Amino acid sequence: MEANQTRKIYKAGDIIMRQGDQGDAAYIIEKGQVEILIEKANGLVQRMGTRGPGTIIGEMAIVDSEPRIATIKAVEDCSLLEITKSDFHRRLKTADPVMQLITQVILTRYRDMLTRVAILKESATYPTPEDLERSYLEQLNTVETVTMANDFRAAIGTDQLTLHYQPIMNLATGQVDGFEALMRWNHPEKGPISPAVFIPVAEDTGLIVEASRWALREACRALRRIEGRVGFDRDLFMSVNFSSSDFAEENFLDQIYTILSETDVAPHKIHLEITERLLMNQPQNAKETLGMCRKAGLGISIDDFGTGYSSLSYLHYYPIDTLKIDQSFIRNMLQDDTSMELVKSIIGLGTNMNMKIIAEGVEHAEEAAFLKTMGCHMAQGYHFSRPHAEKEITDKLIEWSQAKKTA
Ligand code: C2E
Ligand code: CA
Ligand code: CA
Repeated sequence: MEANQTRKIYKAGDIIMRQGDQGDAAYIIEKGQVEILIEKANGLVQRMGTRGPGTIIGEMAIVDSEPRIATIKAVEDCSLLEITKSDFHRRLKTADPVMQLITQVILTRYRDMLTRVAILKESATYPTPEDLERSYLEQLNTVETVTMANDFRAAIGTDQLTLHYQPIMNLATGQVDGFEALMRWNHPEKGPISPAVFIPVAEDTGLIVEASRWALREACRALRRIEGRVGFDRDLFMSVNFSSSDFAEENFLDQIYTILSETDVAPHKIHLEITERLLMNQPQNAKETLGMCRKAGLGISIDDFGTGYSSLSYLHYYPIDTLKIDQSFIRNMLQDDTSMELVKSIIGLGTNMNMKIIAEGVEHAEEAAFLKTMGCHMAQGYHFSRPHAEKEITDKLIEWSQAKKTA
């Protein structure tokens, strides 16, 4: 498994890195203690200190291509998570240009500072660099996040990662119009992990780009199979979630095209689901990319609509065809006037602008009935169906269409 390649195990006494050697990776200590040794010009070896769980060693190798400045030896049996230079630079490349610049400058200064500290020896009254570093890492939960990111990287393309499909119902006809594809991760040791947990990690590490590509391909294939089995004479659409990092990819549209032609799915049957937040964070980039996607015939849906605190006027600016009203408003609308007003105005506004409206998180029949009278076009939620694996959802569709015929 790839996750094992990035976790290195050392026995007590093993040399992890050697002064003067060329290195290409840093390590996060997951378990065990190591000691840092520097050989002086006169041949004497000086012990510079120890490092334990939650700290980083060998980080200079990912900053520049100077040889290792110290030897690091395992004092106990150790388990280390590897961050290679290429991985680090790939992550850095996905950060915005200001972050890239600042990170580079800080790293260069850090090397300079470490060199001085090594010469001057630290004063006892200041927290040691190790203490400072550990408190940052603890705040960031880094070990856990890196472990999850490594495991997720290994999961992409294996049967650990699957898609579930939730039907999106047409409120006027009572029939299924399409689906939303939702990612599921069944971790070999930890069991199912919620997308609310692993998607942010995948986004922060840039792994989401590969995962989204996989999801789009899999969703297209599933759509072909589902349509083949249910044999409807109308088109069904498939809505796939995308993140900011996907949009930051230069060849985003080319990759979508490749997948559509490979799977032989018409562009109008695929809806790209993006959040309002993405539009607000990178307005110009999003406008251009979405414009091209729209020209290519793809559908564009705005997810979690209403939660972004943006002005509604920005809608004119983007080529959007569908608004998905966030579930928090639907959940509260029958008890809370403000939510109800908001739902009404989104439906009114969107309809005026020739957009389709989908209500998310519909759990009760009364909500569905209300949305229908308000002119909402589509709805999705537990009231109709939870997200299910492809086979279950296909069976359900067949069952529903037979029930409709005999009704
Ligand atoms: P989302 O895109 O807003 O997806 C809708 C979430 O609401 C799903 O949660 C779905 O299972 C849940 N849901 C559907 N109907 C109901 C309902 O009636 N009541 C309630 N309480 N919940 C309902 P899920 O699958 O846990 O996904 C959570 C979030 O993770 C998604 O929110 C989305 O932001 C993200 N996500 C999931 N799959 C992907 C993916 O393939 N790519 C990306 N980028 N994000 C994904
Ligand atoms: Ca969504
Ligand atoms: Ca949503």
